[in-house]
Amino acid sequence: MSPAQPGRRAIAATAVTSALIAATVAATPAGAADAAANTDKVLVIGIDGAVLDRVKVANAPHLNGLMAQGLTARSTLYASPMAATSSGPGWSTIATGAWPDKHGVKDNSFTGKNYTAYPDFLTRIENARPALNTYAAADWEPITSTDQNGPIFSPKVDKRLSLKGDRDGYRNEDPKIAAAAAAELRDHNPDAAFVYLGEIDAAGHSYGAASQQYLDTIARVDTLVGQLLTAVQNRPTYAQENWKVLVTTDHGHTNSGGHGGSTIQERGTFVIARGAGIPAGSVRDDVKLVDVAATALAQVGVSAPGIDGTPLNAPDSDPFDTLRPNLRARVDETGIPAGVKGFTHTPPAGWSVDNSGMGTGGVTEWAGWAFATDEFWSQSQRDQWRELNVRSRDVFAVADSDEWDDKSHTGAFDSTLITPKWAVTGGSTRNLTFQTHYRQEAGQTAQVLVSYNGAAPTVVKSYTADAVARSESIALQVPAGATDVQVRFRYSGNNNWYWTVDDVRLG
Ligand SMILES: [Zn+2]
Repeated sequence: MSPAQPGRRAIAATAVTSALIAATVAATPAGAADAAANTDKVLVIGIDGAVLDRVKVANAPHLNGLMAQGLTARSTLYASPMAATSSGPGWSTIATGAWPDKHGVKDNSFTGKNYTAYPDFLTRIENARPALNTYAAADWEPITSTDQNGPIFSPKVDKRLSLKGDRDGYRNEDPKIAAAAAAELRDHNPDAAFVYLGEIDAAGHSYGAASQQYLDTIARVDTLVGQLLTAVQNRPTYAQENWKVLVTTDHGHTNSGGHGGSTIQERGTFVIARGAGIPAGSVRDDVKLVDVAATALAQVGVSAPGIDGTPLNAPDSDPFDTLRPNLRARVDETGIPAGVKGFTHTPPAGWSVDNSGMGTGGVTEWAGWAFATDEFWSQSQRDQWRELNVRSRDVFAVADSDEWDDKSHTGAFDSTLITPKWAVTGGSTRNLTFQTHYRQEAGQTAQVLVSYNGAAPTVVKSYTADAVARSESIALQVPAGATDVQVRFRYSGNNNWYWTVDDVRLG
């Protein structure tokens, strides 16, 4: 989890190590030293219901300044039945670094919450480095108030502020949250902080994301964001500190206002990040909301095995993502907006697709394994669980006999995705890992096959039930004498469902 970072990182890593050792022996004196020594700090600002394209055109110099100085990453959320595009699941995903199938929050009832196994990132910091100072302030009560459903940030957080906003009240309460948080950031010594501002969401509900009132509200909230940034920069010890600032949102809004459903507007989210190691003006397509907590934890040297996020400092090297510049606009899929470039049939270097078993015709986009984005594929048809493919990132491989069948064709869908030949050592065990999303129906086959040194492929995995957004790991026993392995993903069906594969690695 600790990323390699230039400069202060080496010192901080030493501090973390000694702190962890100290924590198991005698917490108090070493703990105090840990807090005093810590200069790696993080501020996460949550702006509820903010639409990135509207932030970009609003009078929002601080938010747009952060984008210019750092990273902007757009991504899309799940939809039901995994979770609604609502604040409960959204902020739980941001705070825990895990998707709703782990943290358990599917809507604003918080029924099924599993914060014991997947606590918020400030609580994880308290558990690992109790001497560090954590702070959370919010005017949506489930974030920090123990009186409400939630709370998403637990009582283990050193200092929590909870005010009560509502549709009109956020306009009054947000400035109080910002003022209190700014004082904390400037005059005290928080190491990790989360500050929530709710008015943008309220404006979305009242007027819609397309409205002038929504833009005006973004401008008001941007001023508060500016107060927080100024407070950090006015810290007397700022020059000696290494701050990472992240801004994110829990869901989007429709143009006419509202969220909770599965439209791409409601599922739209973003992460903005500024700090050491993040290139100014950079844009990434492989970052998701779960990465906020992972990045905050990495910033203070706390590891969190089992969460879904990865720190921003560790970019994805998935070969499918190299295809993004080659992606094309729709051909037959009229439900996908014409401006969205999101699919190709050309695999990355070293990979191939065998379509010799495919019928002819059908919907062009899905004629055999394709490489597509979530924005593109999930808009081919909503509410058929395509939105649940949360563990794929950026470009992934998809075989979709359901969508292919929407135009006349001969034969059936039968396509095989083939990896490069990877070098192996005979007698060793290698872990084949990938992210997958498979929806079952009788009549389909979905098989993983392995071939050593060009021998006939043998099946190592066959899907016969739903595998929703699963992280797969298959141990391969490399036979004596083998020097290479090649993996095949064969999907066949006839107007059944689909299979996606991403981030295929031989560990
Ligand atoms: Zn809302």
